[in-house]
Amino acid sequence: MNFYPEFEVVRNDSRCIRCRVCERQCANEVHWFDADGKVMLSDESKCVNCQRCVTLCPTRALKIVKSDCRLRENANYSDQTIKEIYRQAETGGVLLSSMGNPNPLPVYWDKILINASQVTNPPIDPLREPMETRVFLGKKPDHITRNPDGSLDTTLSPQLSLSMPVMFSAMSYGSISYNAHASLARAATELGICYNTGEGGLHEDFYKYGKNTIVQVASGRFGVHKDYLEAGAAIEIKMGQGAKPGIGGHLPGTKAVGDVAKTRMIPEGSDAISPAPHHDIYSIEDLRQLVYSLKEATEYRLPVIVKVAAVHNIAAIASGIARSGADIIAIDGFRGGTGAAPTRIRDNVGIPIELALAAVDQRLRDEGIRNNVSIICGGSVRSAADVVKAIALGADACYIATAACLAMGCHLCRSCHTGKCNWGIATQRPDLVKRLNPDIGSQRLVNLMTAWRHEIKELMGGMGINSIESLRGNRLMLRGVGLTEKELQILGISHAGE
Ligand code: SF4
Ligand code: SF4
Repeated sequence: MNFYPEFEVVRNDSRCIRCRVCERQCANEVHWFDADGKVMLSDESKCVNCQRCVTLCPTRALKIVKSDCRLRENANYSDQTIKEIYRQAETGGVLLSSMGNPNPLPVYWDKILINASQVTNPPIDPLREPMETRVFLGKKPDHITRNPDGSLDTTLSPQLSLSMPVMFSAMSYGSISYNAHASLARAATELGICYNTGEGGLHEDFYKYGKNTIVQVASGRFGVHKDYLEAGAAIEIKMGQGAKPGIGGHLPGTKAVGDVAKTRMIPEGSDAISPAPHHDIYSIEDLRQLVYSLKEATEYRLPVIVKVAAVHNIAAIASGIARSGADIIAIDGFRGGTGAAPTRIRDNVGIPIELALAAVDQRLRDEGIRNNVSIICGGSVRSAADVVKAIALGADACYIATAACLAMGCHLCRSCHTGKCNWGIATQRPDLVKRLNPDIGSQRLVNLMTAWRHEIKELMGGMGINSIESLRGNRLMLRGVGLTEKELQILGISHAGE
């Protein structure tokens, strides 16, 4: 069924100089030059509104606008719903999407406000006084122990040391490009934080960034071997992902080419399918075996993270993980991004990270096992304010991925699954990959994190708090607006005015 396109290309002919930049830049082949009429034309049905042509047009002759051509208004069956039914009636296939859930479900970060000191507990000026943003992730002792000779036992479980409480979340080589990975790895190293391999293994060129790399072990075990595990600063077992809880992953054979296939240790052109479950994990005891196998394989040097999607019984799941021997739990909320996910799963499964985080922190405290693990919060952490709110709700650190992609140039067109990212991020096409210069990509990531670090310090200073450690779980610093009693109760915060 042919629909009027979702977007319209508006070209100002009096400004267009027929340079054909838009034609060369668009991997979706929207623009072309009609030599007879000496005019630029467009096929709007192919446009995904990635804004590449708009950004690079030298005369600002282009604008992409959302089409106002709609089916008859219906509050129950939206245009989107009707078109999806038509598409499925034609293809019989599962609809695919990328990036995070775009639906207007509540964003609790925006309904939480941060406190500031005024009189009795004065604010701290972060420009003049020391502010500690360094965090250590891993098990912490609950009590002091002494050696047989009476001296203090100062040995700690392995810790992941970060200069600030933000890391780049898992994005596999294959779902994102070599240059995007290079940008993340370099930026993480310069910043003293970590990036995450995702489930695609570690390209041989990136072993040198190992001290700032979290190496992931997912259900497909792609690219997992002893050297890979030993190369990282921490190992992450991926049990789930916020954008697609309960299902596995699929990198189509068309993307498993060259170094991507080599790094994953799979034949070129074969589909890389990660099963939904780890076939050796059906209980916390099984998880514990994998946690300790990985610790054993790396001589107990590295902390082990278990990453799970935020789902209904997340607090109980986290309690089990905290008892499994894992050092860190990463919780990924339902707005988290992805390179590709079934649309229905992405848009309907999982729960908001804010509620999951608060519930997990509270449960671990109630059970007296909060110090067994650190908590990483991910799934649409968009700003320094979100980071501060997450830490006050109980997180030790945050993962960001969509924000990191935006820093590298992503325009959130949500077309990563097509492999034709015009910004060189979610693609393996050599002509597109080279559009992202890793020198510029890493510098922009460093800039973003530097800005956030300043803002985190300012927000903490305003609260009269001078370290992340004093902010963590300090829910008195938060107030809710426009939330129900139940929501406030789960978040463990008071309403504004109380
Ligand atoms: S990039 Fe701009 S000026 Fe160049 S052909 Fe396209 S619309 Fe015209
Ligand atoms: S990474 Fe590329 S394809 Fe994916 S949303 Fe961003 S700009 Fe679009």
